[in-house]
Amino acid sequence: MRRKLAAGNWKMNGLRADLATLHTLAERHSAAQVDILLCPPATLIGACTDLPFAIGGQDCHPNTSGAHTGDISAAMLADAGASHVITGHSERRADHGETDATVAAKSQAAYDAGLQAVICIGETLNERETGKTLSVIDQQLAGSIPDSSSAANTIIAYEPVWAIGTGKVPTLDQIGEVHAHIRARLTARFSDGDDMRILYGGSVKGSNAADIFGVADVDGALVGGASLKADDFSPIISALE
Ligand code: PGA
Repeated sequence: MRRKLAAGNWKMNGLRADLATLHTLAERHSAAQVDILLCPPATLIGACTDLPFAIGGQDCHPNTSGAHTGDISAAMLADAGASHVITGHSERRADHGETDATVAAKSQAAYDAGLQAVICIGETLNERETGKTLSVIDQQLAGSIPDSSSAANTIIAYEPVWAIGTGKVPTLDQIGEVHAHIRARLTARFSDGDDMRILYGGSVKGSNAADIFGVADVDGALVGGASLKADDFSPIISALE
């Protein structure tokens, strides 16, 4: 049985004053029957470790330490109290030129530091409109996911780039098609591929969460904008329970 997971990605949002949101969520969902992961900016990780949620970083450097000004290693995230890290988010791929090889190296660094990696993949609008979605997914799965991945250290997030922050969501059939495809690839490649969780991400909100969670092989969500306010994230968590 794959345990459901509600993951919040705060991106470059959140000051200490915003921690109240997380305390409200903790009060409401301390007895949740699903896993909850919050990925605040790295500056807030240390202030989040008393919460009854898993805490994750949003990126890590592939190296353990060294002359990389401004970067943060997976070991540093773990040291600050994180148990997870997002790798390969499409905003990192676009803003920082991250390739599949970069994402695989970062994911391996996460495993080496004892973190679970939430590895993100997904097609652009142009790729979808030209019928390339499944081949792009195949390429990203093959290139971004290290051979050492397992259900214990890896969560996949399928995030169509065109659905992120846009309010546009694929149809349930489209989500189902990609998740089934990812599941088949994971099962073929990893002995415990059937146990790896696959999250959907991209404009998930309270009003569409239950429908999306009803799709086969959707094991939860990676939520951006709607994770920033307790009243927006709560219904998504509840829809998973
Ligand atoms: P969104 O972002 O929920 O704001 O669309 C999702 C993500 O980028 O993880």
